[in-house]
Amino acid sequence: MRYDVAVIGAGASGMTAALFAAKNGARVTVFEKNGEPLRKLLRTGNGKCNLTNSSIDLNEYVSSDVDFVKDKLFSFSNNDLIHFFKTLGLVTKDKNGYVYPLNEQASSVSKVLLKEASVYGINVKTDCLVNMIAKDNDKFLISIEGEKQRYEFDRVIVSTGSKAGLLKGEKENGEKLLKPFDISFLPFVPGLCKLVLRGYDFESVKGVRNEAKVSLLKNGEGIKEEYGEILFWEKGISGICVFNLSNHCIRNIKENDRLSIKIDLLPEYDEEGFEEFKEFVAVSMLLNNEKTICELFNGFLKDKLSNMILEIVGIDKDTTVSKITKDQLFEILEKLKDITFEIDGLAGFDSAQVCIGGVDTKELTNDFELKSVPGMFVTGELIDVCGPCGGYNLQWAFTSGAIAGEKACC
Ligand SMILES: Cc1cc2nc3c(=O)[nH]c(=O)nc-3n(C[C@H](O)[C@H](O)[C@H](O)COP(=O)(O)OP(=O)(O)OC[C@H]3O[C@@H](n4cnc5c(N)ncnc54)[C@H](O)[C@@H]3O)c2cc1C
Repeated sequence: MRYDVAVIGAGASGMTAALFAAKNGARVTVFEKNGEPLRKLLRTGNGKCNLTNSSIDLNEYVSSDVDFVKDKLFSFSNNDLIHFFKTLGLVTKDKNGYVYPLNEQASSVSKVLLKEASVYGINVKTDCLVNMIAKDNDKFLISIEGEKQRYEFDRVIVSTGSKAGLLKGEKENGEKLLKPFDISFLPFVPGLCKLVLRGYDFESVKGVRNEAKVSLLKNGEGIKEEYGEILFWEKGISGICVFNLSNHCIRNIKENDRLSIKIDLLPEYDEEGFEEFKEFVAVSMLLNNEKTICELFNGFLKDKLSNMILEIVGIDKDTTVSKITKDQLFEILEKLKDITFEIDGLAGFDSAQVCIGGVDTKELTNDFELKSVPGMFVTGELIDVCGPCGGYNLQWAFTSGAIAGEKACC
């Protein structure tokens, strides 16, 4: 029997599911609410599309069941994905584990997927917002906003993504579509996003970038650490390492837990190196005792960051170093290795790259079929799985799409 399969959402996971279903003999229709398919994919990796990671650490995924994620990524791995794209003619390159198309154009990824879809006769219907899915015996009925007609299918794959990174006017309704089926759904919260911090007016350091070690603290205890470039924004900090920490601000946190972030602005120095550095600055202070403290700091720290540190420790930036004791100097320097701010929250869904939360993995079979609704599959970001930066999330979207699509046609 040749199944009629509907895919809701022409994103990375939906288009992959459509392809795998069609290649295995299904007649596939994809419904996409936007005017074009794969719109989000075009924005990924700053338009370069970091489609996977050659050295994925599966423990870095955040989900209520990380083992579920691991199994699936063994079934359709990063190497399988690179091979799949190779068969479509897409050549990739590896930059420290981050895998991109060789020409660094997300549009090439989109084009090869859409070309393959047309080769397999997949019907991609754009400007079609699915607003209801109903089950009638073993058929699925799909309603499109503004249309009276309902479409009938044997299988349905729901690939509607999450609330993250939606463009103005876009709305998410995946959770609503699944509501009639009584599926356990963990509320979406922003993932891979900027942090809002308390205790300083960050407007004065907005736009400043610095290498840093950042640690997430729960009730004062370190729970996760990352290195990389941080970028200050008007309400706190941003940057890939901060995004990665943001994924850990929700899970395993109880209501009264206090979350804070510790920033080390001199990550180059280990303990011993830092002691030597402090002594060096102390000597430098003696040799330059006509300078202001801010001028002394100019030799190793960005101006705006010097001002920030001095403001935090309560020393006027115009104070001449002759008025500063060695102990005071050391106190300021130690602050550079340990500035701690309370976390006030996560920046909103608009600026988030992904969401934490979604369909509970407990609801799914190993093939992404809903255990309680045979014939209905869920893929991609709509599932409670979220990875760090570096291609982890697209890999998840492709993996879940490939596995679900293959199963949905038989
Ligand atoms: C700015 C940005 C950069 C990113 N960069 C990277 C990166 O470089 N590497 C990486 O791994 N990840 C990256 N991500 C994350 C990655 O894009 C997502 O994890 C991935 O796209 C999820 O795929 P998906 O198919 O599940 O959802 P989506 O790609 O969001 O696709 C869902 C599709 O469903 C459609 N849809 C939703 N509801 C309906 C409905 N009711 N009816 C019809 N259609 C509907 C949507 O319009 C959309 O086209 C980035 C995200 C953002 C926002």
